[in-house]
Amino acid sequence: MAIEITEDCINCGACEPECPNEAIKEGNEIYEIDPNLCSECVGFYDVIPCQGVCPVECCVPDPNHTESEETLINRTLKLHPDDEELRRKVEANDFPSRFRV
Ligand code: SF4
Ligand code: SF4
Repeated sequence: MAIEITEDCINCGACEPECPNEAIKEGNEIYEIDPNLCSECVGFYDVIPCQGVCPVECCVPDPNHTESEETLINRTLKLHPDDEELRRKVEANDFPSRFRV
């Protein structure tokens, strides 16, 4: 996980449905991202959709928690074992990734 939600979150909920991994949930005080489920959307998008919809720009990279593209695509595959289209793209090394734009 390299994306985290800061205390600036206003609990609007816009980010939650954008996540293909269901990594975003309403927390006790603000929305939270489960680091074990966030794959920075590698394999699905070449942008960070939660970041894109946040009205207060509080979905931000966590500089203390960086991960490689390989780690992230492997997480995406693990979270979506039945997604054949995703698997084909990964096998062809032709998948969306913010590392490739
Ligand atoms: S970067 Fe992608 S996987 Fe991570 S929390 Fe945001 S929408 Fe979900
Ligand atoms: S979109 Fe931004 S402000 Fe809205 S719930 Fe998500 S992190 Fe919080």
